[in-house]
Amino acid sequence: MSRYIATRAIRGANALVGEAEVMLERALVEKGPDTPIAFPNTAYYLPVIFGMMGKEVEHLGELSEILDHARSLLHPTPSQEHWTPYLGETLDSGMATLIAAEAIEAIRYVYGLQPESKPGFESAGGTSFTSPDMNGGDGQSPNGHLNGAIDDIQLRSWGIQLVDGRMPGFAAIVGCAKSNEAAVQIVRELQRRNILCFLSGNVNGRSIIDQLDEEGVELGYDTYTVPFGTDTISAIYALGFATRSALTFGGLKGGQAREILNYNKDRVFAFVLALGEVDDLKYAAAAGAINFGFPVIADTVIPQILPTGVTTYEHVVSMPWNEIAGANDSEKAEQLVQKCIEVRGVKIQVADVPVPVPYGSAFEGEVVRKADMRAEFGGRDSRCFEYLKMVKLDEVTDGKIEVVGPDLSAIEDQGSMDMGILIEVAGRQMEPDFEPVLERQIHYFVNGASGIQHIGQRDITWIRVSNKAAAAGFDLEDFGKILHARLHSDFGAIVDKVQVTIVTDPDQVEARLEEARAAYDFRNTRLADLTDDAVDEFYSCTLCQSFAPNHVCVVSPERLGLCGAYNWLDCKASFSINPTGPNQPIKVGRVIDPVRGYWEGTNDYAKAGSHGVVEELAMYSIMENPMTACGCFECIMMLIPEANGVMIVSREDTSMTPAGMTFSTLAGMAGGGIQTPGVMGVGKYYLISPKFISSDGGFKRVVWMSSNLKDSMSEELKVVAERAGDTQLIDRIADERSVTTVEELLPWLEENNHPALTMDSIL
Ligand code: SF4
Ligand code: ZN
Repeated sequence: MSRYIATRAIRGANALVGEAEVMLERALVEKGPDTPIAFPNTAYYLPVIFGMMGKEVEHLGELSEILDHARSLLHPTPSQEHWTPYLGETLDSGMATLIAAEAIEAIRYVYGLQPESKPGFESAGGTSFTSPDMNGGDGQSPNGHLNGAIDDIQLRSWGIQLVDGRMPGFAAIVGCAKSNEAAVQIVRELQRRNILCFLSGNVNGRSIIDQLDEEGVELGYDTYTVPFGTDTISAIYALGFATRSALTFGGLKGGQAREILNYNKDRVFAFVLALGEVDDLKYAAAAGAINFGFPVIADTVIPQILPTGVTTYEHVVSMPWNEIAGANDSEKAEQLVQKCIEVRGVKIQVADVPVPVPYGSAFEGEVVRKADMRAEFGGRDSRCFEYLKMVKLDEVTDGKIEVVGPDLSAIEDQGSMDMGILIEVAGRQMEPDFEPVLERQIHYFVNGASGIQHIGQRDITWIRVSNKAAAAGFDLEDFGKILHARLHSDFGAIVDKVQVTIVTDPDQVEARLEEARAAYDFRNTRLADLTDDAVDEFYSCTLCQSFAPNHVCVVSPERLGLCGAYNWLDCKASFSINPTGPNQPIKVGRVIDPVRGYWEGTNDYAKAGSHGVVEELAMYSIMENPMTACGCFECIMMLIPEANGVMIVSREDTSMTPAGMTFSTLAGMAGGGIQTPGVMGVGKYYLISPKFISSDGGFKRVVWMSSNLKDSMSEELKVVAERAGDTQLIDRIADERSVTTVEELLPWLEENNHPALTMDSIL
């Protein structure tokens, strides 16, 4: 352990705790101790303080006690004469720094100083769930603000990717890169590996955020680059995110400090990348990160800290910029990122996709605005469809990509053209049922290319190609290259051969579209026939156990996983791809109770899969032995006893619900793999299933639901209403536009003749 680092970290911590105390004192005088403090949209208070100390800080006055604790963790700087290991003192100082930093940011929120405003700043802002699918594809206007704290909604919407390993973790990048070129390349290398980039700090007033902004790099949730703030203190939001991962997905509770830290060390792939000169405060903050098991890599000369077990390998690694081999700053940046990954110690797989633009999941959420657009397919002025079909092995040539008709150069600037993407796949393990599963991936695969935006599916596909991508040489056959590469890399176990035909010739488009539509119709009928009673196997999903160790989803044809990402067919395909993977067939076996949904097989499985936490599982009830939840649910349902029904809030909805809690707060009750009668996390397509809480009375029990669910699923809900024999049913359900308390709810339901009021008691 380096005396130098210990000295500087301890000094930095002392200074920051002092600064927090001064700020608090002033705030207490100016604003008063009862002033509420909070980060936006989180159920975890000030998350690091809540996680580490178990304190639910909600008012300014409560910070005094918190800062007292931070002060108690401080130590005098090491003397010159005596050698001691210092590691404990350094880690304590790091923790004190984190606590003080979080307190400071909370006070700044009170003063409206967070998130930091930055005039002229070109962040795209936005969140991945207000994806182009929902806002028409034009993204959001520049907001002139940095991000500040990440809210729970965003954490959850990343949840499934964090859980299944598609998104390995995050890099907390602090400071300013050697050049703009280096800054861009560092971020690109991380994005390519789907590692979230949390950006903060500066060196002499210049931040990596400025560098990226100057280079036109689109920052925001959608591109996995979150600009927290231009000072070092804002890096605290990265550790707040880490703490909440453990609370949200790991089922841990506030105050379980050791467990939370270990959880992060073992399961969250994260590190700190310190760019440029490291001052006392950065040393102190770095010491805080080491507590979480996150190593620190610096591009300057600093003493290293070798392994002691707090992190997986080295704690602090110095990789001075001018000693990195490389012909230019881009190459050096690549080396630096390589080093970070090596020090954190996780293998990351990247599919090699041979297209002339950067490629990776980080680009999936990218928006191509009309003004930046070279051409589009589908949308208002043209038609685009995609169709994947299974053929016999000898009917396709693997890797053959054909464009039938004119290519991109035939389209005028910002113009559009009809296009069909036809994929033929063959494989010994392939089944016709997997066609829709694979076809659904086209959206993600195509979106992975930087500068390409893909929306919709089937015959409502809408693709935009940006000017930048076109200038880089992207053309129509590249769609084929992407699909060929990704289908092999992601579905190699069921797909042996892939052939892609892109048709733009008008006659061909017409003919092939007809063929595709016949197939869509066939699949729809097949799906409608696919009921729980028609199969003898359900599937398990234990993918979330890496985060929520006792949670299992039991996925049946009429009830998909609560994250919305896995339905019965997906699980079946996944089992074929990986027979020892997280989706295993569950033989349902003897029926115990067909109404509530008990089978011998599902009960046995629930018990084993949950390690005994769940004794019995009712597939069709929220009131009795309901399914547990991890943290990635699309919606939360909750009993409202006064209304004799349930409410459903979607994770996009931040408003107050009649349960007196927002989604974030409810999520804290619903997750963690524990059965809670009356509370359930569900995938939104479960709402339209005939088996939707069928033993509790079905959809007629819904008395309140988030309006965005009503709007985004209006067609499907119409069918539900008809099935329930009341075409007005959806209009009888309240939402946040009309009702936000239970007192308002009851008269509203009466006025609108809601059926739940006259149904049998749900209790
Ligand atoms: Fe997690 Fe359930 Fe989704 Fe599987 S189906 S990924 S266990 S939420
Ligand atoms: Zn989950």
